[in-house]
Amino acid sequence: MQNASDFARLSAIVTSSDDAILSSDFSGKIVTWNNGAAHIFGFTSAELIGQHFSKIIPEQFVDAIISLMDEIKNGSPSKHFESFGRRKDGGDFPVSITMSPIRNVEFQVVGISIIARDISERRKNEYYMSLLASIINSSDDAIVSKNLDGVITSWNPGAEKIFGYAAEEAIGRNISLIIPVSKLDEEASIIKKISRGEKIDHIETIRKCKDGSEINVSVTISPVEDRDGKIIGASKIARDISQRIEREKQKALFTSKLEELNNFKDDFMMMASHELKTPITVIKASLQVLQDSLTKDSGDIMLVDKSLDHVDRLSRLVSELLDVSKIQNGKLDLDIQVFDLTLLLKEILNDLHPVSSNHQVILGQPDALIEIRADRQRIKQVLENIISNAIKFSPQGSIVHIETAVKETGVIVKVKDDGIGIAPEHIDKIFSRFFRVGGIASTFSGTGVGLYISAEILRHHGGKMWVESELNKGSAFYIEIPTLLSANLSNTG
Ligand code: ADP
Repeated sequence: MQNASDFARLSAIVTSSDDAILSSDFSGKIVTWNNGAAHIFGFTSAELIGQHFSKIIPEQFVDAIISLMDEIKNGSPSKHFESFGRRKDGGDFPVSITMSPIRNVEFQVVGISIIARDISERRKNEYYMSLLASIINSSDDAIVSKNLDGVITSWNPGAEKIFGYAAEEAIGRNISLIIPVSKLDEEASIIKKISRGEKIDHIETIRKCKDGSEINVSVTISPVEDRDGKIIGASKIARDISQRIEREKQKALFTSKLEELNNFKDDFMMMASHELKTPITVIKASLQVLQDSLTKDSGDIMLVDKSLDHVDRLSRLVSELLDVSKIQNGKLDLDIQVFDLTLLLKEILNDLHPVSSNHQVILGQPDALIEIRADRQRIKQVLENIISNAIKFSPQGSIVHIETAVKETGVIVKVKDDGIGIAPEHIDKIFSRFFRVGGIASTFSGTGVGLYISAEILRHHGGKMWVESELNKGSAFYIEIPTLLSANLSNTG
């Protein structure tokens, strides 16, 4: 028989327990209710004692518990099971329950004791653990853990697939199993860092597979701590990046092949254009001699004129190709000098006279002195291109206006025509290499590189070129040459 002090100790244990400890009679009526029960279920003992236990259990579990109580009443030993409890606020939560018989001194069962523990936290952990496990198991990446001695402690299916070792073969072995000899030093420094609590993010390295092959992997390694925060190992996530590395290698190879071919093409263009220049010059000179020797009424003069015209076109094409090659090779050198832009424009208009005889080309401010510092020959080439385009793409008899303006940023030349204009979707493209607008514009002769070369020439001068245009109304091409030495500022427009 227990004495009073035993009883007091037992009573203290029951009172201070975090678990719900209660008892009921065989009809299910609650007889005792400790502080733990009040805490877990939210009812005070005054509210619960004398009530049926179904007040703290969801309806669907009540019958099962009653039949377990019957079994205990009939002599069955303690029952341990998991079910659900219901709080005073109506919320249900998972509980682990132990029901035991309460016996009197004659060993007769006189009631039932119930110990209930709230296992919500445990269930949550179990849920997260199984979620984590399913993520690890379904990952294509290798997820591996090891202790600080480098002994493998876990090995997921991704690791099996990447490295070829089954989990049973790898767990318990040293991580050097998958490290090539040349990378063993790297592993030692990784372990050192991990021991200091440092994480290693995305290092790209090489690992060895079961079949002896080596693969490129991207690895992230994090320290693993025990409950007390002590570092006990490392977890490693490794991704097989061999295919990506292979693709990058192929791409680099492809790019260098392309560069090689491109250089070859540029060299060839440069060489071919150079080589073509001499025979063209000789043909042109011979034709000119022939032209001079023929009388105006000779039947052959037309043939010679036509041939000279074609030789000129050929010569222009060759020069343009040579310029494109020079731009591509970064060899467009400028010969900078000081000259008068107005004088240059007059010279160009004079040279263009035969071509422009069906148009009226008006130069605004024909007496302005505009001294600039630039490559005269190259600026001449740009202006010839945009003025001849204005003439080419506008109807006979129309007027082409050329205006100059001296601004703070540089000298601006505007060439305006009333021609076919350019559709908005083509405006940005006309400065690209070999671009020609289709439709009616393509019926005019040309190569589509003039504006590209012009824009590049201006870019080399630190200047720029742009266009304002409206389809079927006309275009205005602008160039800006930044280096201004002196100018007649009355020109400012
Ligand atoms: P090309 O005149 O030899 O074709 P460009 O590079 O000088 O080459 O011009 C490219 C294209 O821009 C031309 O084919 C034409 O479609 C368009 N373009 C250039 N200048 C004008 C203009 N003044 N009016 C209308 N379209 C133009």
